[in-house]
Parts: sequence; C-alpha cells; structure tokens
Amino acid sequence: MKTIAVIGSGTMGTGIAQVALMNHCSVYLYDISENALQKAKTQLEQSFNKLLQKQKIAEEQKNQFLQNIHFISSLKEIHHTDLIIEAIIEDLNTKKKIFQEIETIVSPQCILATNTSSLSIHSMIKDLKHPERFLGIHFFNPAPLMLLVEIIPTILTSSTIVNHVIHTIQQWKKITVIAKDTPGFIVNRIARPFYSEALRIYEEGIADIATIDWVMKNIGGFKMGPFELMDLIGHDVNYVVTETVWTQMYYDPKYKPSIAQKRLLESGLLGKKTGRGFYNYSQPIPTQPTIQDSTLHQQIFIRILSMLINEAADALYCNVASKEDIEIAMTNGVNYPKGLLHWADEISISTIHNELQRLYYWYQEDRYRPSVLLKHKINSNHKFF
Ligand code: NAD
Repeated sequence: MKTIAVIGSGTMGTGIAQVALMNHCSVYLYDISENALQKAKTQLEQSFNKLLQKQKIAEEQKNQFLQNIHFISSLKEIHHTDLIIEAIIEDLNTKKKIFQEIETIVSPQCILATNTSSLSIHSMIKDLKHPERFLGIHFFNPAPLMLLVEIIPTILTSSTIVNHVIHTIQQWKKITVIAKDTPGFIVNRIARPFYSEALRIYEEGIADIATIDWVMKNIGGFKMGPFELMDLIGHDVNYVVTETVWTQMYYDPKYKPSIAQKRLLESGLLGKKTGRGFYNYSQPIPTQPTIQDSTLHQQIFIRILSMLINEAADALYCNVASKEDIEIAMTNGVNYPKGLLHWADEISISTIHNELQRLYYWYQEDRYRPSVLLKHKINSNHKFF
C-alpha cells in the first residue's frame, strides 16, 4: 500500500484524500486549522456514506477507507510518506515555506507536488534541496468526480519522477495530460475565451445573456452556457483565474478581464451560491433565447468557437501540450462536447481563420489576432489531425 500525505484539508485536499483512499492508499491529511481537519473528517464520512447508500462501495470498504486516513496537526508524522500533494491556500510564500519544512522531514526520494491553479511551479523550486522530485499535479474540482489531472513538470523535474507520477495517478483511475508550466496550464488557459468572448458580446449589447447561453448550448452542444457556468463556478473564482492569466501573460489583450464580471464580484453577487450573479436565482432561469434571429445565433456561436479554437491552436503552437493532450484536457477537464482542434478540422480551419480575420479587421485589436499556427495550416492546407 502506498502512503501519501495531503497538505491542506480544504475543498481540494479533502477531495484528493478521498481519491487516494478509494485507491487503497494510506493517507495523512494535514492542516494548520483543527476546524478544517474536523470539517474534512465529516465531509469524508458523508461522501463514503453516500457511496454506500448508492451501493457503489461496501460497508467493509467504507470502514477500511476511514481506517486508512490519519488527520494530523504535526507535519512530523509525514516522515515515511512516498508522495506529498500540497493543497493549501494559494499564496506563494506560504507554499514555499511549507515545502522547505517538508524537505527537512521526508526522505530525498519522496515526491513533492503542488496542486496550485495559478502560481508557477517554477516559482516554488528555487530554495528546494531536491527540486528534481518536485512537480505540479493539478486536480479539478470536485476531485473525486473530475477525471482530468494535469501533470506539470519543471525544467528540473526528473523524467523518472514524471513517469512514476503519471503511473500512480492513472492507477487512481484518472486521465493525465502533461502541461508546460505556463499561466493557466492547459484547461484554465484554453477555456478563457468561452467566458471572455461571451462577456464581450454581452457588454457590447450584441445579445443578452439568455440568448448567448442558449446559443452555446443548443448550437454549440455545450452542457452549460458561459453565463450559467460563470455563475456556477462563482465570480470570485472565475474572475480571479481570468485576471491571473491576463497579468501573468504580461497583459496580453486576448485574456483581458471583463468589467461587467468585475462589478458582480465587487458587489458580492458571486453567482448561484449567493443567489444572484448574472442570473437571479429566486426567479426561473430562461430556457429560450430572448432574441429570435438564427443568423445572429450562428454569428455568436462561430465567434466564440473561433476564439476558443484560436487559443487551443496557440497553446499547441507554444508547446503547452501535445495536440492529443489538448483535446483530452478540454473534453475531460471542462466537458467540452468535442476537442477544439478536431472541431476546427470539421468546420475547416479556413472558416475559423476567416472569422478571426474579420474580427481583427473590424476591431483593430490584438485580441483577435489569429495564431501563427492557424496561418501555417491555411498555407499548407493541413488539418490538425
Ligand atoms: P481551501 O481554502 O478550501 O483550503 C485551503 C486549506 O489550506 C484550508 O483548510 C487552510 O486551513 C489550509 N492552510 C492554509 N495555510 C496552511 C498552512 N500553512 N499549512 C497547512 N494548511 C494550511 O482551498 P482549495 O480550494 O482547496 O484550494 C487549495 C489549492 O488547490 C490552491 O492552491 C488552489 O489554487 C488549488 N486548486 C483549487 C481548485 C478549486 O476549484 N477550488 C481547483 C484546482 C486547484
């Protein structure tokens, strides 16, 4: 049995602990807050009880999982673990400090990983004694349900460690992709235009939120529209991801956040969890488009899709991930109905390129510049696959 430690018992730490327990690991779950540990215990018991009720696990399994978890308030207890996954608050100095302390406790072979969403993995290795065993292992929320895990090595991570981690995470029945350490990694970067282009269309008054959401679901086949999804994720989380990617990309206008979304965040209208975001959840949510105009519907769809494909192409061009991993990431990390590069092949790369050029010509903004890779593909008349 593998012995692992999860550092931080909040939303992600508790979810990751559950995944590891259900895959027969012995788990040491650490937090500085007793209250957080208590909450994690209750949460895990509730999750296992639910799985038991649904007959997904047996009583003995539940008992075994609960026997295999150790809630700890002293880091010293992790000295014999093989793998450490850190999921504490998103603060670089706090994370660096805890990894330095961990290095004084565990063996040099123990693998150290961070679950950070927005900090660079490289920013954490400078003061480590053994940076070759350090990497990013990025789970999605909720960790027990979401299949995708992004693996993010640094330039110093040993390839043996990367392969070992991929093997372990796949044994936990997750789908792994490898991402270069760039802002947003794969999913949080490529998904940006789904929100930002919808917001732009809305802010310009081209269409209202109900119409845009309807279009992306009914023409695009997405499970949720951009506004519903932002409301569900919460503007505190979704806006901050956008702003972080934008600033880390040196204010590239492609990633510029929206003022309309910022106003919701500032006023505490965070989405579904507060009862009000773009939609008012005390009233029925519209299921039909406000505007009945099939030409407009098509224009909205192709505009948002072209921006998504452009971002996927650019991520590929910048070697953020392989084309296969980009497709796997978007269909499993955010459940897109199709891989964006396959979608481009299906619609034709020139249709996407024409739309981007039209937007670029119209707005005269760098935001709409087509990726160099799309230009290459047009010139050589190639598909992605
Ligand atoms: P959270 O606020 O739910 O939990 C953070 C926990 O860390 C808290 O229980 C807190 O007590 C604990 N903590 C803070 N400082 C600590 C310290 N010095 N030592 C030990 N514990 C400490 O946060 P979360 O949403 O679970 O996010 C955790 C990490 O996972 C972050 O790096 C975040 O970027 C990343 N992440 C979050 C999501 C998400 O959707 N929530 C998804 C993927 C990755």
